[in-house]
Amino acid sequence: MKKLVLFFLVLISIQFSLKAQQEPFHKFAPLPYAYDALEPYIDKMTMEIHYDKHHRAYYTNFIAAIKGTELENTPMETIFANMSSYAPAVRNTGGGYWNHEMFWNCMKPNGGGVPAGKLGDAIKSTFGSFDEFKKQFAEAGVKRFGSGWVWLTVNEAGKLIINSTANQDNPLMNTETLRGVPVLCLDVWEHAYYLKYQNKRGDYINAFWNVVNWDFVQSGYDKAIARKQ
Ligand code: MN
Repeated sequence: MKKLVLFFLVLISIQFSLKAQQEPFHKFAPLPYAYDALEPYIDKMTMEIHYDKHHRAYYTNFIAAIKGTELENTPMETIFANMSSYAPAVRNTGGGYWNHEMFWNCMKPNGGGVPAGKLGDAIKSTFGSFDEFKKQFAEAGVKRFGSGWVWLTVNEAGKLIINSTANQDNPLMNTETLRGVPVLCLDVWEHAYYLKYQNKRGDYINAFWNVVNWDFVQSGYDKAIARKQ
């Protein structure tokens, strides 16, 4: 009987260690809130399709694109810093995977308001006022032709800039001219807003300000500035 118990214990521990090995380095994180948590600004069906279909597909295709290569265990920031060395599939799917995870974190239920602290000060001194910043950010989003993203980025000089990227590119990629550490992002692909806002991308951007998670943006800004010092 004792031998039998021991046998099962060994079996269980082998299973556990196999599971630990299977745990991927690049993970598909859960959405930090419910699909309907950002209503009425971002509707439930858009969130569900965006997270569970679009984002998941980027992740699955990224994992397939890097299978059997050293990128399976390489941090995303390192991959982006060397983006020009890799195939377009890695760029598109890796960007899509990472950008969306950041985007979910840039929002929260009952978000919005005005950023405070060092970030609030930096926004005011860079753009003149918070309203002027919002205006320029929205303009960058409306003007992005086709699909892409708008970013608030700490550039290589440690200054805040607003920049827009095409497709699933981001400011960490060495393929970009305006590079730096992004602290806020907005997805302006049609799939991010079409069900509720149709062709009115500007209305979607206006609504976005009601769900921005400024605590997350502030913490990203503090880390990016600390890295510069
Ligand atoms: Mn998207």
